[in-house]
Amino acid sequence: ATPTAVMVGTGVGASQGVLIKGGQALESAHKVNCIVFDKTGTLTVGKPVVVNTKLLKNMVLRDFYEFVAATEANSEHPLAKAVVEYAKKFREDEENPIWSEARDFVSVTGHGVKATVQNKEIMVGNKSLMLDHNIAITIDAEEMLTETEEMAQTGILVSIDGELTGVVAISDPLKPSAREVISILKSMDVQSLMVTGDNWGTAKSIAKEVGIETENVIAEAKPEQKAEKVKDLQASGFTVAMVGDGINDSPALVAADVGMAIGAGTDIAIEAADIVLMKSNLEDVITAIDLSRKTFTRIR
Ligand code: ADP
Ligand code: MG
Repeated sequence: ATPTAVMVGTGVGASQGVLIKGGQALESAHKVNCIVFDKTGTLTVGKPVVVNTKLLKNMVLRDFYEFVAATEANSEHPLAKAVVEYAKKFREDEENPIWSEARDFVSVTGHGVKATVQNKEIMVGNKSLMLDHNIAITIDAEEMLTETEEMAQTGILVSIDGELTGVVAISDPLKPSAREVISILKSMDVQSLMVTGDNWGTAKSIAKEVGIETENVIAEAKPEQKAEKVKDLQASGFTVAMVGDGINDSPALVAADVGMAIGAGTDIAIEAADIVLMKSNLEDVITAIDLSRKTFTRIR
């Protein structure tokens, strides 16, 4: 392609809300034959909501959520925002509640959070967080977790003073276009994978809904592991695009031949990417590849 063609291609992209950061990004996109998608906020809407609560101890729901919200109010995680939002409905000052004071707040990346609230030790997070603190997962809790995972929801566990007290089911539905985008990519000979920090059960259920094969799913992945997967695929001969929105996707966005960030994502992801999907539409992954193919496979 001539420099003019590249300029035109980049300009057309910009006019459609696909921000391509330079000619190299536009060129690499036409060779992409494998795309790694982040789950939360990329394939899913990214605005999780609490859909169910199971108390394992005799306790008032309002008090339970006071502990959970006081702890999670210190976290930026989408799951934290979901539980804080839900907890508001138990408060009279619903608009702008001031939660109980949380002391010694600690965020354990990829696992959850802990803090001391009203002199009780509160932990909110996944199974690993509980197991790392020697908290037994009861059969009741296991059942609830399995149920939520089968429904493609995420179950988070709550412990108070070392005892498992409740399970909160949180739903983050697929973006309406996700399934079709994966299917169109397939028809374009582009294979799709999904990587996520979420648990295996939920990840597999979401993958099934969106049409990604189970063997193309990686769950419980740390940010470096997302990047490792990209590098493995490259070593196997694939030209890899990564699509993500979070800080935890940035190493993979940098490692990929083409990093694509969701416009509504975090600044760090947008910074790390080669292409930014300004409208946050998943369809624009296809727009970007199409544009590159048209620019670079034109008859000379
Ligand atoms: P993702 O790739 O889905 O953004 P993360 O790596 O951020 O996942 O988190 C992985 C898992 O750790 C979450 O699915 C959740 O179970 C748990 N977790 C992380 N942060 C929190 C939090 N603030 N509150 C509750 N659970 C959390
Ligand atoms: Mg994400």
